[in-house]
Amino acid sequence: MSPCLFCQIVAGEIPAYWIAETERAIAFMDIFPATPGHALVIPRRHSADALEAASDDLTACMALAASVGRAAVAGLGAEGVTFQSLARPAAGQTVFHSHIHVIPRQDGDQFVFPWPALPGDPTEIEAYADRLRGAFTNDSF
Ligand code: AMP
Ligand code: ZN
Repeated sequence: MSPCLFCQIVAGEIPAYWIAETERAIAFMDIFPATPGHALVIPRRHSADALEAASDDLTACMALAASVGRAAVAGLGAEGVTFQSLARPAAGQTVFHSHIHVIPRQDGDQFVFPWPALPGDPTEIEAYADRLRGAFTNDSF
C-alpha cells in the first residue's frame, strides 16, 4: 500500500467521495470543507506539489478544476470559486501530493481572504520583479 494518502485514493485503497475523473486527474470532496462543496483535484501520478509536478499534470488538473468550478456554479449556485494550491509547509501544505482546492464561494461567506489588500512599495515590487526575472532558466518553461 502506498504511503501517500492521495495515491491511496487514486488506487481505490481508501474511500473518497469521487466526483469526476479524466485520464490524468481525479476530483473528490475535501472532508474538512472550507465551504460546502469544497473539492480537491489531484493528478493520478504522484508529485509532492505544483513545484514538482510535470506540466501536463498541472494542465490536466487546472482543466479539471475549472470543470469542477463550473459544476459548483451550475449545480450548487456558487457565485464564485476560489482555486487554491499550497506548496510546501511554509505555505501551509499538509498533504504532500499535488492538489488544487476548488472552493465554492458566496458573497459574504465565511471564507477568510488570506492577505490584507494594502498597496506595496513600488521600488520593492520592481526589485522583486527583477529577482524573479533573473531566476528563470531555459528549463523554467
Ligand atoms: P493542503 O492543506 O493544501 O495540503 O490540503 C490538504 C487537504 O486535504 C485539506 O483541506 C484536508 O481537509 C484534505 N484531506 C485530508 N485528508 C483527506 C481525505 N482522506 N479525503 C479528502 N480530503 C482530505
Ligand atoms: Zn501521492
